[in-house]
Amino acid sequence: MSQAANSPNLTCRRLDGKDYGITNNQFDRRAVNIVKQINQAGFDAYLVGGCIRDLLLGLPPKDFDIATNARPEEVAGLFRNCRLIGRRFRLAHIHFGRDIIEVATFRASPDQEQRTDAHGHVLEDNHYGHIEDDVVRRDFTVNALYYDVRSGEILDYLNVMDDIEAKRIAMIGDPEARYTEDPVRMLRAARFAAKLNMTIEPKTQAAIAQCRDGIKAVPAARLFDEAQKLFMGGYGERCFASLQEHDLFTALFPDTASVFEHQQEDYARYAQELVRIALANTDQRIAEGRPVTIAFLLAAILWPVYQLAYQGLFEERDNWHAAMHEAVDVVHLAAAERLSIPVRLRGMIREIWTLQARFDLAGRSTRKMQSLLSHPRFRAAYDFLLIRHGAGEPLDALVDWWTALQQDNDLMPSHDEKPRPKKRRSRGGRKRRGDR
Ligand code: ATP
Ligand code: MG
Repeated sequence: MSQAANSPNLTCRRLDGKDYGITNNQFDRRAVNIVKQINQAGFDAYLVGGCIRDLLLGLPPKDFDIATNARPEEVAGLFRNCRLIGRRFRLAHIHFGRDIIEVATFRASPDQEQRTDAHGHVLEDNHYGHIEDDVVRRDFTVNALYYDVRSGEILDYLNVMDDIEAKRIAMIGDPEARYTEDPVRMLRAARFAAKLNMTIEPKTQAAIAQCRDGIKAVPAARLFDEAQKLFMGGYGERCFASLQEHDLFTALFPDTASVFEHQQEDYARYAQELVRIALANTDQRIAEGRPVTIAFLLAAILWPVYQLAYQGLFEERDNWHAAMHEAVDVVHLAAAERLSIPVRLRGMIREIWTLQARFDLAGRSTRKMQSLLSHPRFRAAYDFLLIRHGAGEPLDALVDWWTALQQDNDLMPSHDEKPRPKKRRSRGGRKRRGDR
């Protein structure tokens, strides 16, 4: 382990949790028991980060993370339901059915971690550090509070309480250096500002302009994960506004962002409104505990790009069906440069888009109507039609028609319909033609 002398020189303010309305009872019981067990084995362990921040702000914590000076192998030795993950920096995952509580050993600050021996080899020991190292490795001050279950105290090394009070997202250390080290922190800043209803501290905000381009180098899989956190956390509409405010939406969806600047102002406004309504709709569903999928949101975010691509290709090909599928491919390919959208979701997006054309055509025959109504993606496609309408597309007649149709029991496919009787087979006897 690194020397304490190498760790940053920080003063710890120990605050009584009760003064802030925080006691052991507010944390997940399993997480508190894990901390106690690690403590009993002679180590320090704390609840850390988002859970304390959220409790202080009166929000329900999403997960309960633990930080400790016990090494991952030492943690693993204490819990039968523990698995170690990661290679260079190992983390202990303690499993409770489908839930996981993560226990991380205090990390060294990057300069110590990257210290090498005479042969240039990274010294294994340097991955781990003291609590002070762990504090300065975190991103924003509001994410760097520790809670000690033994004493019920909150450990505050960075005057975090002042930032919580002032509703301020402030980077720990030099913002430009920390964004360069990990550009995803810019997206996190925008997300926390939205989620916590805070403002980004001026220097933390100003550095985004210098570092924004760095997001291009982030692996597309990581950006997809981040997009999920931004848009599927129940506060997606606010995240969208925050991303726009800090000019970061363009880093995730450059093509959609350029449609927002389209020379036809009506179309630009329509595109923004469509995305906003889709996000507000998803937030609402999450608040009501109804199922949501990011495919629906991605379909909305990329739709304005798809529509333009389709129009261009239709003029070239003069074949709407070919133009439609080609446009889907073009848009997916372009989006994949930034976000790696899983194949299954790409399939759902294609269905939602291509079903839009069938709303128009299917009105002409009962068979087509019924086939559309019983399509597994009908409901999502219909909700999507409503969003397009809400954003200003002149779809009044189509929306009324399909809304009324769903109230028409004779047309709706019934789910408990008896299977059709099978064709009778001749038993034995002569073979019929075509039987061989
Ligand atoms: P939420 O779970 O509500 O999204 P959170 O703060 O718990 O918020 P996580 O992504 O779960 O966020 O990360 C847990 C903690 O790990 C954070 O509170 C922060 O201290 C630290 N952390 C996460 N990502 C980074 C990063 N990119 N750079 C530095 N520290 C990070
Ligand atoms: Mg978390």
